[in-house]
Amino acid sequence: MSKRQFKAESKKLLDLMVNSIYTNKEIFLRELISNASDALDKLYYESLTNRKLKVDKKKLEIKLDVDKEKRLLTIEDNGIGMDKDELAENLGTIAKSGSLAFKEALEKKDKVNIIGQFGVGFYSSFMVADKVTVESKKAGEEKAYKWTSSGADGYDITDCEKEACGTKITLHVKENTKDENYDKYLEEFSIMSLVKKYSDYVTYPITIFNYDEEKKEKRKSDPINSMVPLWKKNKNKIKEEDYDNFYQEKFYDYTKPLRIIHTKVEGLVSYDALMFIPSNPPYDFYTKEYKKGLELYSNGVLIMERCEDLLPDYLNFVKGVVDSPDLSLNISREMLQQDRQLKVIAKNIEKKIIKELTDMLENEREKYEGFFKTFGVNIKYGVYDNYGAKKDELKDLVIFYSSKEKKMVTLKEYVSRMKDDDTIYYACGETVDKIDMMPQVESLKEKQKEVLYLTDYVDEFVLKMLDKYEDKKFVNISSNDFDLSSEEEKETLKKKNENAKDMFDFMKKELGNEVSQIRFTNKLKKHPLCLTSEGNITVEMQKVINAMPTDEHIDAKLVLEINEDHPIAKKIEDLYKTDKETLKKYTKILYDEARLIEGLPVENPTELSNLVCEFLSK
Ligand code: ADP
Repeated sequence: MSKRQFKAESKKLLDLMVNSIYTNKEIFLRELISNASDALDKLYYESLTNRKLKVDKKKLEIKLDVDKEKRLLTIEDNGIGMDKDELAENLGTIAKSGSLAFKEALEKKDKVNIIGQFGVGFYSSFMVADKVTVESKKAGEEKAYKWTSSGADGYDITDCEKEACGTKITLHVKENTKDENYDKYLEEFSIMSLVKKYSDYVTYPITIFNYDEEKKEKRKSDPINSMVPLWKKNKNKIKEEDYDNFYQEKFYDYTKPLRIIHTKVEGLVSYDALMFIPSNPPYDFYTKEYKKGLELYSNGVLIMERCEDLLPDYLNFVKGVVDSPDLSLNISREMLQQDRQLKVIAKNIEKKIIKELTDMLENEREKYEGFFKTFGVNIKYGVYDNYGAKKDELKDLVIFYSSKEKKMVTLKEYVSRMKDDDTIYYACGETVDKIDMMPQVESLKEKQKEVLYLTDYVDEFVLKMLDKYEDKKFVNISSNDFDLSSEEEKETLKKKNENAKDMFDFMKKELGNEVSQIRFTNKLKKHPLCLTSEGNITVEMQKVINAMPTDEHIDAKLVLEINEDHPIAKKIEDLYKTDKETLKKYTKILYDEARLIEGLPVENPTELSNLVCEFLSK
């Protein structure tokens, strides 16, 4: 009989396991025990709604056994089990969360180091075994099946005898090599210490059969694991390392969490929550498949793997578990959404996370800035989502680059430095460096004003949503109504512009009315020109909205401003009197230059280049 073949990707992963040079091979046990524990969870959960399944929770267990002579290590559970199709599907394909995360990481990082930090699942058994058999009987069914494989050349599934439901995995442990001691996986003692190390929080008893010298027979040990889930343990008794291990294993991250939030709440609604803010975006964070949510337990029993209602959208990066004895176990998904207690928990959790972030901002600034680099967009989204429903809670968590401090600052910090002014100034651009060179910014800096540099496309929407901060209004210094000059200066400028009206009309026409105004300005110091906007739509917003993959298209009302003090001002006035044809060309160059400064495309770069060269060669 020819063997069934693994799916292509499985084969790749399997090859990697079989030929693994990774030293931390011991994690295979953690993987198999974790699968067994999941299978027990599933059976118990299933039994709550399926009356045909009679399950005594106290009898659910994971048993280990070794046979040194035959070099066998077995891991057995009395959980949900698998039928024939499931054996083929689950063990023949790599489509599972952990393995997928692993595959993604493989593409990015070096192969040797990540294996041990990952939930690579069932296939990791091939790191220590040259043959693996899986005997399984699905709960509620009559027949049992046996899956056998010696690695990448395929697998067989045959009928077998098995009394109780559940799964028994037998590893044929490899022979020692000169670099690797496999015998230790056949020693009760080392197996027990591995269980302690990796699987202590598993909620079902894990036992091992020990040889009793006196009675000359094997006896089941007491549970090796302490069985209390990590989140139910006393905080003082938990080492940071325990949290890190738990997080990395459970949420398939190969980096440590940035922040751990462990909280116990007792009151009207009681719950334990253990949450993590990742250091990096989850591996599938930017894919359509990514879904937010926390694992939901009732008294240590899993109700839902991903309860979306526990987290607001903007906190979708938070990982963790919530365990509440107040939730009924056999509650349906639909009912859960209506559940009052769940709503209370969700609200508390959101508050708690905001509090923790605030604490990080105040006490671990550098860490917070790191967080903000990765997840700042989420916080900003939280500010303007739902018409700003959460803006008051979140406004102090947003940070922007400051011209004065040359680092990220909060709005509160900005306001605390203000001197009799009612305005918070900001400028938008692609990068801090580019904004720093903007003519308007330079002139404000000369006036000792602090300017916030908005480099993220959502930043301006955030400020518009906030509208004000402590009664201080926000002003985009690229908008044309921004003006810091004195009454007298304003008057002089106004006159000058009135006198030049005909010339500017002439120039506007030459630009096909692409700009709504051209005028002289006095706010540019040594720079010759700039492009601003009038009205509600700024140049930045135009860029953002027009770059979206929708049909939406907006145009800011552009204003070309020319420095009245710059020699170019006099030059165009002369040309208007003496050489209108040349003025037309000048107008094109000036406008294109202004667009380039603002980061907007020029319509015809070749024409611009030709014009500039024409004048350069004169
Ligand atoms: P993962 O655990 O990330 O889903 P694995 O490769 O470890 O990936 O396992 C694949 C699937 O095989 C599991 O999702 C589960 O459906 C099934 N499975 C593995 N071990 C067991 C077991 N002991 N009992 C029942 N099903 C199991």
